Amino acid sequence: MARKLTLLAVIIALIALYFVFDLNQYLDLAFLQAQQASFNAFYEANQLLTIGLYFVFYIAVTALSLPGATIMTLAGGAVFGLPLGLLVVSFASSIGATLAFLVSRYILRDSIERRFRKQFEIINAGVEKDGPFYLFTLRLVPLFPFFVINLLMGLTRMKTWTYYWVSQVGMLAGTAVYVNAGTQLAAIERVSDIGSPQLLLSFALLGLFPLVAKKTVDFLKARKVYKSYTRPAGFDNNLIVIGAGSGGLVSAYIAATVNAKVTLIEKHRMGGDCLNTGCVPSKALIRAAKTAKEMRQADRFGIRPVEPEVDFSAVMNHVHQAIRDIEPHDSVERYEGLGVNVIQGEAHIRSPWEVEVNGEVLTTKNIILATGASPAVPPIKGLDQVDYLTSDNLWQLQEQPKRLVVLGGGPIGCELTQAFARLGSAVTQVEMGQRLVPREDEEVSTHIRETFEQEGITVLTEHKAAEVVIEDGQPFLVCSHADGDKHIPFDKLLVAVGRQANVTGYGLEELGVKLSDRGTVEVDPFLRTNFPNIFAVGDVAGPYQFTHTAAHMAWFASVNALFGKFKKFRVDYRVIPWATFTDPEVARVGLSEQEARDQHIDYEVTRYGIDDLDRAIADGEARGWVKVLTEPGKDKVIGATIVGTHAGDLLAEYVAAMKHGIGLNKMLGTIHTYPTLSEANKFAAGEWKKARKPERLLSWVARFHRWQRG
Ligand SMILES: Cc1cc2nc3c(=O)[nH]c(=O)nc-3n(C[C@H](O)[C@H](O)[C@H](O)COP(=O)(O)OP(=O)(O)OC[C@H]3O[C@@H](n4cnc5c(N)ncnc54)[C@H](O)[C@@H]3O)c2cc1C
Repeated sequence: MARKLTLLAVIIALIALYFVFDLNQYLDLAFLQAQQASFNAFYEANQLLTIGLYFVFYIAVTALSLPGATIMTLAGGAVFGLPLGLLVVSFASSIGATLAFLVSRYILRDSIERRFRKQFEIINAGVEKDGPFYLFTLRLVPLFPFFVINLLMGLTRMKTWTYYWVSQVGMLAGTAVYVNAGTQLAAIERVSDIGSPQLLLSFALLGLFPLVAKKTVDFLKARKVYKSYTRPAGFDNNLIVIGAGSGGLVSAYIAATVNAKVTLIEKHRMGGDCLNTGCVPSKALIRAAKTAKEMRQADRFGIRPVEPEVDFSAVMNHVHQAIRDIEPHDSVERYEGLGVNVIQGEAHIRSPWEVEVNGEVLTTKNIILATGASPAVPPIKGLDQVDYLTSDNLWQLQEQPKRLVVLGGGPIGCELTQAFARLGSAVTQVEMGQRLVPREDEEVSTHIRETFEQEGITVLTEHKAAEVVIEDGQPFLVCSHADGDKHIPFDKLLVAVGRQANVTGYGLEELGVKLSDRGTVEVDPFLRTNFPNIFAVGDVAGPYQFTHTAAHMAWFASVNALFGKFKKFRVDYRVIPWATFTDPEVARVGLSEQEARDQHIDYEVTRYGIDDLDRAIADGEARGWVKVLTEPGKDKVIGATIVGTHAGDLLAEYVAAMKHGIGLNKMLGTIHTYPTLSEANKFAAGEWKKARKPERLLSWVARFHRWQRG
């Protein structure tokens, strides 16, 4: 330890001396040019000594991570010329970098590794596997400062010799470009020399180098993943899309619109989860449930209330009728009419360019994975003894469960809990965490919980489902809780604890498509997997799992797949709205207040209570609020949460405002039809304005009016 501290003290002292004596002034372009002639003269007289001094000084600058390596490199070119300059700089910079790497390793590695053992195990496994390649790309593409790479790599377990030679090879091209630029600097004698073709070329090379290096790295990466596959000479398709849910349908639609040859493969039902087991059936069920609730509470409007007679199988018919009515939008016929080749069958990826379906192998230039997600089922002891429900098989239910336990307090769990309760089931909702809809602000969770409890739902938060047991033929869910285990009897158990990406069974494992920590397909900002011609969209890739985000991603993936050669677009997640369709609905775009606090983002908050809104009062829906977060001192919206009837629809105005930079002043200046719910948005903007009244000016205006009255 003492030795390490001594070394650290020496290094700090050397760095301090460098700044105290202002040695920085000598590592400056102007100084270099001013002294060019004397440097050259000294070099002519003492060639070996100059090279030796330069070499040692260069190593010291880089080993101590001092600023100035770039100027030193240019100086090397200016004094020694290209071949000798390149030779000297290449060795000096690699030795200096390796020394900095060793210093970081000696002083810091053990203590940092001890502290972050887990993280370093993962990093070192990565370094072992692909370290030289990543180092090579970091050296080739000068994205990160030279000294940062030395210091950080020193913390890993990479071998010193590997570090040395990979650095030297990786930096060679960049060094050559800079040394070459240095030789041209030496040639500037008059202002007119600046326009000389050689000088312009060397500067152009400086600018182009990072771009060319990036392309080279991309090319090398691509070669690496493709090396065990033979690329077909020609392709049947420009694009094959696997999965005809929201993401796949939109991808195929876009490809067909731009006249690409596209094949869409679906193994189950066109429309995917949203149409068949997700958004559409759940919203149809919610609507039926709302009618039941309105019948019970009709006396609010002077109509005799009745306890509705729920014919559950007829309710399910209504749900399936909604699916049937929407089905044509997503049908094979419609898509074939649009020019998409639709195949019904299970796709298996055989190579980056080959997909097998129904025994036939199709070739394609690009693939989009749009294979969606499935309900996650936690490993609860005894769960397999009962026919538990998930959002996949729920819609086949013909008999209404008298007692339903819903596992999960997220949006899907909440929507279905309330719907079944309103239809007459006795529902217990079990959530492991502290609150329902935990992504939203706490007041939202509280409001939803209170509403549920008023409607007769039993809400159990901080209850962890531990086991399913059957006693005398009666199934129970056993939940562990701080106050002891609870046994909840049920007729049906609905598992709604989240959704996991569909990533197995169709060739991704064999191919080596990388997955993220969340178990989704890992994609870059262009939605490419580690195979640059294979893209992923929607639930299989995340991070959002909504129909509209799947469709949004589809545009980026299909355009990047078909036209990425010319221009690629980064997927834009800046303004993503969503809604939970409980009653009241909860809709959000941008930051919640909690998120703003957690991320230390400054904000101002404005609230408008929907209980004050004329239309909501007339409709008997006078509850909820609009909460808007704005940038301090500005009317720019950075987040909006709406809780209330039709909140999902109301949110659109804030989505447009955030997307297109419309502030609250403009929203306030926009006419909203009276009496509509949309006025809530305008009134929220009014609240914002009211809180920022120009009080001083208004006191003068009051005086003016007093004077007018005489
Ligand atoms: C109950 C519930 C309610 C929901 N409500 C909403 C809501 O209100 N709003 C909202 O925005 N989102 C909602 N969602 C989420 C929404 O349904 C999904 O985000 C959306 O469907 C994702 O679309 P996708 O294209 O990624 O996948 P999916 O729609 O799941 O489509 C994937 C398709 O790929 C097919 N497939 C998979 N593997 C293969 C293979 N090897 N070969 C061929 N085909 C294959 C599958 O059969 C499937 O049809 C809800 C989800 C659920 C479960």
